[in-house]
Amino acid sequence: MYKYTAVVTGGAGFLGSHLCDKLLAEGLRVICVDNLLTGNVNNIAHLAGNENFSFMKHDITNYIFIPGRIDYILHFASPASPIDYLKLPIQTLKVGSLGTHKVLGLAKEKKARVLIASTSEVYGDPTVHPQTEDYWGNVNPIGPRGVYDEAKRFGEAITMAYHRYHGLETRIVRIFNTYGPRMRLDDGRALPAFVGQALRGEDITVFGDGSQTRSFCYVSDLVDGIYKLLLSNESDPVNIGNPDEITIKEFAEEVIRITGTKSKIIYKDLPEDDPKVRQPNIEKARRILGWEPKVNRADGLKITIDFFKKTAVI
Ligand code: UDP
Repeated sequence: MYKYTAVVTGGAGFLGSHLCDKLLAEGLRVICVDNLLTGNVNNIAHLAGNENFSFMKHDITNYIFIPGRIDYILHFASPASPIDYLKLPIQTLKVGSLGTHKVLGLAKEKKARVLIASTSEVYGDPTVHPQTEDYWGNVNPIGPRGVYDEAKRFGEAITMAYHRYHGLETRIVRIFNTYGPRMRLDDGRALPAFVGQALRGEDITVFGDGSQTRSFCYVSDLVDGIYKLLLSNESDPVNIGNPDEITIKEFAEEVIRITGTKSKIIYKDLPEDDPKVRQPNIEKARRILGWEPKVNRADGLKITIDFFKKTAVI
């Protein structure tokens, strides 16, 4: 029998579904809320029949009623890849603002602890490197990424307001680039794009000259860090990510090597406001959560490539 109940918004998405798995494995009851805009029931199909799991198809920007006691709410609903939020700009703004407001209202009503998924995008195209939590960022509010970045920044602001004004127990995780099984092959991100191209034997499209950097975290590490943060006492934002930084060109070469493809790299225009560098400083997570990532990129990539080979129509 479960002791605690958690609500996961965006629970049918890539990260949300892994979080549902983690919370169930820790013995919680999980209510997954998702409007399936970018999420997919395939991600939670294996949980059908689990008596501690239930699914509500609901758009969290609208009023939500859930009967009974709720102990934790984890707000992971949002389009989250550059292609998705370019296609869904209004929904992205609404879920980060109105959706976060609904989540906080529900948490206040239920006296639940709430954890909000924020992002390294709050740092924008950063002038501080690696990014520490006390850096306020360099965001273009009216550029194509503004709809995501500003919605997430507003989400942090309203979460801190509920914490300070209503005394709500709140947690904010700033998530850096994460990968693993259940990513969508068509979400436009570098990893699924490169792997899909490599497996089809097509050219690998590197944007710009490929000198921009990212730091990729395997999903099980991320979920472990988030769970530790949920149970901690820290109400200020905490970076969770893998500090192993790589240029996008080197990353494309790594995908070519691991897949054994004959694909060649070609270069395309760099999207507007594409951050030049990104690497989390995770000293705070190490210090207060005793957390650091364990899975190296070669191992994580192999698992992820196998997932795409098995499940995706390449
Ligand atoms: N990128 C690329 N080719 C692609 C897709 C992405 O070179 O087909 C680049 C993109 O411009 C960015 C990096 O890879 O510099 C990571 O992009 P992603 O969309 O994965 O996430 P971001 O960190 O930009 O949100």
